[in-house]
Amino acid sequence: MKLHELFGKGRTVFSLEIFPPKRTDGIETLYTTLDRLTAVKPDYISVTYGAGGSAANNLTCRIASDIRSRYGIEPLPHLTCLYNTRGQVDAYLAELSAAGIENILALRGDRVADMEVSGEFAHASDLAAYIGQRGDFNCVGACYPEGHPECPSLDTDIDNLKIKLDAGVTHLNSQLFFNNEDFYAFLDKARARGINVPIEAGIMPVINARQISRMVANCGASMPAKFARIIARYENDPQALMDAGMAYAIDQITDLIASGVDGIHLYTMNRPEVASRVWEAVKNML
Ligand code: FAD
Repeated sequence: MKLHELFGKGRTVFSLEIFPPKRTDGIETLYTTLDRLTAVKPDYISVTYGAGGSAANNLTCRIASDIRSRYGIEPLPHLTCLYNTRGQVDAYLAELSAAGIENILALRGDRVADMEVSGEFAHASDLAAYIGQRGDFNCVGACYPEGHPECPSLDTDIDNLKIKLDAGVTHLNSQLFFNNEDFYAFLDKARARGINVPIEAGIMPVINARQISRMVANCGASMPAKFARIIARYENDPQALMDAGMAYAIDQITDLIASGVDGIHLYTMNRPEVASRVWEAVKNML
């Protein structure tokens, strides 16, 4: 099934993101995680891919294939292109095709210090266009409600997003954000620019202090005062931070669903309790 077929049916799509274990021997733990994650019956599960090439990348396709065959859930394997050659992309696509996988999240990937780019793909749109010529895959793309950190302005980033759509991307998953107003303002601008594909809102419940600085440094998401107060008060109290972080995320999701968002894409951090708590709180609203 092509994932864009999920949308426009009068309900909010609910999807999850997981990452592969760093080593092959972590795969059994991941299956225990998936046993619990799949209990919330997500519309699909996306599986990340390391931009700089890593052992875990060999697992992305295998895990995606198992999500489909073991759990009967549609997988969305990611693929980055900055450091991959066309030959490497072809090999990955052949593997996905053999596993009956029809959907790919086409990404550029973050820059890795001191690593030489392949020079064959500069942007995610190049990868999406290439995949489009290579078989019957449906391409999903990434978008940034506050603008991509390398881009000088949100307007320019949205112009670049349009190029990604013209290259064949049929739906978008957003970077995480903590202020729904940023997402709504982005949606208005994107729609005005003719970006009419479904856009899922990316939500990551903050459940431990370690996540916070890493997230803000990596994705540039701004921190509203309401959220900063939670961090300041509970960052040294793990259980309270977990409860407050979940409550904040559930509040964000409730507002997004009420405003008619196309979908919620939950960054689970491979923590099934995060998905279950969100699911229990919002399942009747979806
Ligand atoms: P692009 O769409 O190529 O955009 C990157 C920058 O280039 C932007 O500033 C954009 O404005 C600009 N740009 C784009 N097209 C053009 C053009 N034609 N001309 C000029 N400028 C252009 N990273 C991983 O390594 N692995 C993952 O699995 C992963 N999963 C992710 C999932 C989601 C939902 C999101 C939001 C991000 C994910 N990332 C992942 C991070 C992502 O790889 C980085 O944010 C990366 O820096 C940009 O990737 P992109 O596909 O959005 O790039």
